[in-house]
Amino acid sequence: MNELNDIENEVRDCKKCGLWEDRNNYVFGEGDPNAEIVFVGEAPGREEDKSGKPFIGSAGKVLSETLEKAGLKREDVYITNILKCRPPNNRDPLPEEVKSCSPYLIGQIESIRPKVIVCLGKHASSFILELFGLDFSSISRDRGRVYKLSKWGLDLFVVPIYHPAATLYRVQLKESFENDIRKIAEMLTSHGNSRNTTLDQFFGD
Ligand code: SF4
Repeated sequence: MNELNDIENEVRDCKKCGLWEDRNNYVFGEGDPNAEIVFVGEAPGREEDKSGKPFIGSAGKVLSETLEKAGLKREDVYITNILKCRPPNNRDPLPEEVKSCSPYLIGQIESIRPKVIVCLGKHASSFILELFGLDFSSISRDRGRVYKLSKWGLDLFVVPIYHPAATLYRVQLKESFENDIRKIAEMLTSHGNSRNTTLDQFFGD
């Protein structure tokens, strides 16, 4: 059974919140179904809604270029969002939308079983850390922190970083964004991408 396909089939017909009404396409996520790293953003934007693919607009271009610079191929990671349908005018996700949609994301994580979840921006960071019972204060304070956590039968590292869109509006954030992704890439590639990598060597406890 391909669990990701099963979850995507549910999303395809989903009407659990009002966002289905205006969507052109749902945006499930894409990448390696066995990826060691899952990137989680907040919701699809206009380009993503048009295409059904995650992070393909200008913020997606920044993410792809930064991954490449860090020696990671986009197809080797998995990229998705909390919400699978676009909120109108790219407004922030509403709590009830997150509540309705987030079981799909959790199902994706349980299926992929990554070593690292990278939270892109404040909404994803806040949502993921709260799943673990942790408080999130602000992305500028918490970015680059590495949380060693366990849930869903997985030992995981959770790393909040800036959303790539933020680097478009505030270019001074780009260096932090690139450094954080480089650090995550280094810890995996220097151990040959083995799923037995001891990440503690990089991040400590
Ligand atoms: S955003 Fe999520 S919960 Fe809402 S309709 Fe789309 S798939 Fe369903």
